[in-house]
Amino acid sequence: MLLELAGVETFYGASQALFGVDLAMREGEAVALMGRNGMGKTTTIRSIFGLSPLRHGTVRFAGHDISSAKPYRIARLGLGLVPEGRRCFPNLTVAENLLASARKGFWTIKEVNALFPRLAERSGQYANSLSGGEQQMLAVGRALMTNPKLIVLDEATEGLAPVIRQEIWKAIATLKQQGQSILVVDKTLSELLPVADRCFVLERGCTVWSGVPTELTAAIQDRYLGV
Ligand code: ATP
Repeated sequence: MLLELAGVETFYGASQALFGVDLAMREGEAVALMGRNGMGKTTTIRSIFGLSPLRHGTVRFAGHDISSAKPYRIARLGLGLVPEGRRCFPNLTVAENLLASARKGFWTIKEVNALFPRLAERSGQYANSLSGGEQQMLAVGRALMTNPKLIVLDEATEGLAPVIRQEIWKAIATLKQQGQSILVVDKTLSELLPVADRCFVLERGCTVWSGVPTELTAAIQDRYLGV
């Protein structure tokens, strides 16, 4: 397994957010992490990256137990994060933002520009002058520049215009074709399911269902994902 969470329990102070998250994915897979608002998707991602320490359970990545590792060490093992709300350096240019996270490998500015031609056009612009969608492309580009074994996208397309969403989904499909391992959270099932090899559904901080997209029946969607 590339990534394996077993019985993960995470707290914010005294308040427990995760009560037992299990998830496993192999290299080259695209996995969807699903669940209604507040069910623990972001906290699960924070737990993987060492940003919210686990109280119980384990996280293993690429043969390492990272359950209590520091975020910078986890990132160096090959985990790239595209966080909710993006977070690029606002006062650096697009190219500077990309270079700031560069590590050796396939992904260079040239490759990122080929994936997102809009970023190529805005190479010399400051990140704070980009639209939300362009900032999201930059956030994906920054994560790719670390040449991660696994890229994790939290709310991949939330709040973006439809045209931009399409560009992000197209990029995710391209990455998948290239064999990039992907863990993705998004609310648009119609876009998410076609790219997913496997889905994990959270409810109240627990993994309550996992399977391939074709097994995610209307009844299951209604029960765990309906509004
Ligand atoms: P959303 O889709 O709304 O982002 P989510 O599935 O990502 O939801 P989380 O953000 O992981 O859910 O939240 C899980 C639980 O943890 C919720 O009950 C939430 O209220 C709680 N929580 C999240 N962040 C904090 C925090 N900083 N302090 C205290 N509780 C928090």
